Amino acid sequence: MKLPDFLEFEPFNTIRQRMDAQSLGDFVFFDPRRNLTGLERSSLDREGLDIDDQDLRVGEDFTLIYKDSRVLMFCTDPQLLTDRYYHLADCERVAQLRQTDLSQSRWQLRTREPQTAAGQYQVCSGCLQRLHYQNYDGHRQRHRDYSDRVLEAFNLEEFFSQYPMYPVSMGHSAPVF
Ligand SMILES: [Zn+2]
Repeated sequence: MKLPDFLEFEPFNTIRQRMDAQSLGDFVFFDPRRNLTGLERSSLDREGLDIDDQDLRVGEDFTLIYKDSRVLMFCTDPQLLTDRYYHLADCERVAQLRQTDLSQSRWQLRTREPQTAAGQYQVCSGCLQRLHYQNYDGHRQRHRDYSDRVLEAFNLEEFFSQYPMYPVSMGHSAPVF
């Protein structure tokens, strides 16, 4: 279907003149396959979203992206005690997880720190390494104290101020799952 050019659409232009509307305003084309819906946004902010499709992507900066938002991922399976870390980037653990079926192991996406009955979660140091977040480098011995401090002081709000949560252009990411 070809839509008319509404800038040239006479009935709209007449209404615009009658309203004395000078500017056309801004609008964003919404595509639910690419843009978060209101429901998804609130799920990411609250209980988390199950990973059940191919929509999780890795940005050129190695952050994790779902549709047009940066996200973190974490495991809600109380049996997997080793996975009490949440991931923000394409770290070694995430690379390993890509080989598995995530929908079977209760991995979820969120935009806030996970809080579940399974307990506390910490940011994954492998992710900070991958991003070189605030010059974090756990491999450099002489840099160790500094890196430990970055890890300890990690704050998700600060992270999202450096890597804005939303909107992220699809052009800068590639599907990996
Ligand atoms: Zn990680």
